[in-house]
Amino acid sequence: MEERLTKKEAKHWLKCMFATYKTRDVIAQLADLGFRAFYIHIRSDLRAKHGILETTTCSLCSNPSKQCRLCLEIRNQIWNNHRFKTANMKGPSWSNTDSTKWCTDYWELAKCYMPPTGYRDKPNANSTDFNGIIGAIYNCIWMQCYFTDDLSRNSNICTGI
Ligand SMILES: [Zn+2]
Repeated sequence: MEERLTKKEAKHWLKCMFATYKTRDVIAQLADLGFRAFYIHIRSDLRAKHGILETTTCSLCSNPSKQCRLCLEIRNQIWNNHRFKTANMKGPSWSNTDSTKWCTDYWELAKCYMPPTGYRDKPNANSTDFNGIIGAIYNCIWMQCYFTDDLSRNSNICTGI
């Protein structure tokens, strides 16, 4: 083993790495249950506001400019729940998601809130890295319900100090 790795500093870095992995594992579980609940919330809201029943699903709409009413409303909900949807910000990362799976795979909703590259082929929370998970949690306003800290402040538990 290289001598540097036996030093105290190296052991501290190793502890940091394990702490990051452990944190990722926990927030990945939170994101998994959170986005599952987010989809259920969206469907409940669509039934209440537009009369679209939860049993109605779609797996056909891949073109954002030609979506059915259901997919259009899911798209609106994703947009409305993005923390940075204002004009000069980009909003959801549409390139990450497969809209034909919105009704069958809640993780496709989570991917809309991750950085715009590197997450399209990540099918679940377990395969997503720390940056993707924390982005999904922070960028989706609805996930605020799992935090007592106010995530709308510039400095918060998800952004660090
Ligand atoms: Zn559709």
